[in-house]
Order: sequence, then structure tokens, then C-alpha cells
Amino acid sequence: MIPLAKPHIDKEDIREVVEVLESGALSLGPKIEEFEEKFAKQIGTKYAIAVNSGTSGLHLCIKALNIKEGDEVITTPFSFIASANCILFEKAKPVFVDVDEETFNINPELIEAKITDKTKAILLVHVFGQSCDMNKIVAIAKKHNLKIIEDACESINAVYEQKKVGTFGDAAVFAFYPNKQMTTGEGGMIVTNNKEIADLTKSLRNQGRSNNMQWLTHNLLGYNYRLTDIQAALGISQLNKIDFLISKRQELVNIYLEELKDVPEITLPKIAKQNIHTWFVFPIIVEEKHRDKLIEYLMSKQIQSKAYFSPAIHLQDFYKKEFGYKKGDFPIAEKLSKTILILPLFIGLTKQNILTIKQAIIDYFS
Ligand SMILES: *Cc1c(COP(=O)(O)O)cnc(C)c1O
Repeated sequence: MIPLAKPHIDKEDIREVVEVLESGALSLGPKIEEFEEKFAKQIGTKYAIAVNSGTSGLHLCIKALNIKEGDEVITTPFSFIASANCILFEKAKPVFVDVDEETFNINPELIEAKITDKTKAILLVHVFGQSCDMNKIVAIAKKHNLKIIEDACESINAVYEQKKVGTFGDAAVFAFYPNKQMTTGEGGMIVTNNKEIADLTKSLRNQGRSNNMQWLTHNLLGYNYRLTDIQAALGISQLNKIDFLISKRQELVNIYLEELKDVPEITLPKIAKQNIHTWFVFPIIVEEKHRDKLIEYLMSKQIQSKAYFSPAIHLQDFYKKEFGYKKGDFPIAEKLSKTILILPLFIGLTKQNILTIKQAIIDYFS
């Protein structure tokens, strides 16, 4: 079986984790701060705040920006559901804007029509490893006095015009589930240049304790969204080789692009010229009538692939029920959710594997 994704864990990772286990400092120890410092440096922000998942990180950003019931947040329907759910956690309303057909990211040309006097923020998602069109989005946010939260969970190290994603908004979130470019098992990281947001999210992840207060003093309603030092040690070790992890993905993608370019039934992903893509997944587009059958056929040949993201968020059951969304509301996102599949991409995938996948695709279409 060729799996869809697999984390890359080496001896160094294992040694770092075992060292923490032997130290006995399993949580609230020194590894968290070290991971945060290194991560902030990697992205180029003043602060980084480690949390136990990307979803927790997004939730705390919503809280820290004081987004609450009655507020609206502009976001994308073509994403993993957590990027919209975090708005619902605080009873605010996600207002969807359709996406660009080539980058799969929120279409800036459609944002302004959705802004009302209730709009507080734009929560954008850099989908699959590629940045949104940030110049346009930042200009719109400035003009209308809106906050920006970047969901960069799929796009560590991605670049837009020489600047890394995660440095454009008021806050951004990265994630480290095992299928991401780097992993801590479960985990996430908030980054920001804003000290207030940094202090607030740091307090909220730890039961609302202020950073210099005693253990049982809580001045805010907080959560337990802490990452362990075991996970932080793995994070540090993975971050130390992030350039390797991403360049390997790029090498594999280059092989895919070369091998699949002459298969007429496939549309390959496009990269906007101002972007450096970091390939959370490798997506291809096929006709709607073939997509699910191709996935099934590949599975019969021991090759995992997956419809991504399907269905679009506004067509998930409780969004339809709660907000009355229906088919046709966001046609590009819906079309993509019916035509994209992702192919195996992980370190350890071989050129031979890719040739096997290519042959299976060709066999399906013939
Ligand atoms: C992975 C991911 C998240 C966070 O997921 P967790 O499993 O909570 O770490 C959020 N948004 C997007 C777009 C993601 O891909």
C-alpha cells in the first residue's frame, strides 16, 4: 500500500523525545520556550505561542481579537473545517467568500461585497501550501479597519513576495498533525508581532493565568490548550530540519509535475508567480464524473488518494442547518470540492512509487 501521508521521524527526533522523558519535565518545562523562540525566528515574528492543536490556536486568536456574538468574520468555504468552526466557538458568524479557481485560495475581488458594519476580521487560509494574494487582502483590511488572522496550518515556510506567510496578519496559526510538513503528533503555534495578543493567548492556553500570577489565580476564562514538553522536543527537532523536509517534498512534486504533464485528463496545480509553495499535499484536478471513481480505482491498486476538501464547508450538514447555505452558493469552491484529489506525498515516497501511481492513473483513463 502506498499511503497518502506519513510523518518523517528520524533517530534525532527519537533521541530528543527520550531525553525529555528521562528529564521528568514533561509539561511547562524548558522545551516549550525553546520551541517558541526557534519558531518565531523561523517565521520572522516577535512572538510564538505553542498550543495543543492548530484548532486551539485559531480559537485563541478569535478570543484574543475579541470577536464575539454578533460579529462577522470573512473566510473561505474551501478549507479544513476548523478554520470556520473556530469562529462558531465564540458565536460569531463566518461569512464565506468564494475562492480563486487556480490557487484555491479566497478571492480578494469578492471580499468587499461581503463587508458589513458587523465585520470584524478576515480569517484567510493559505490552502495546500500556497499563500493567498496578500497585497490585495491587506489593502482591503486596512481600508475597512479589519483584523487579519492567517490560517497557515498547511503552509509553513510558504512565501509571498519574499515574505513568509504568518507575517502579514495580526496573528497566524501553524499546525503539526502528523500529515503536515512537520509534526509534533498533535500541536499548533500562534505567531504574532503584537505583544497584547501574545500575552493574552499565552494566558488563555493556560487556564487564564496571568504570566506572573500564582498557580491558582485566574483572571480570565481560559482553557487547557497546552503543548507538552515531549511534543515541543519533537517540534524543535523537526524544525531543525524543516528546509530538508520541504525541499524533499518539492523534489517529489517536481517528479509528479514532470511525469503527469502529458496525461491529458489531468489538470496540474498552478503556482502564482509571487509564491513559493511548500506542498502540504499534491492536488490534481480531474472531471467530476471521474474523481471518486479514480480514487476507488487507485485504492484497488493499493494507492491511497483523497477528495480534498469535500464537501465544501458551507455544505457540511450543520452549516446548512444553522445558516441555510445551499448548493450553488459558492460555485468555484463547490466545483473544486468535486474535482480535486490529492495523491501520496511524504518523505520516503520514491520515484518508482510515482511511476506506479502514474501508470495506475493512465490505466484508469484507458
Ligand atoms: C490542519 C489544519 C488545521 C488545524 O488542525 P489541527 O488538527 O487542529 O491541528 C486548521 N486549518 C487547516 C486549514 C488545516 O489544514
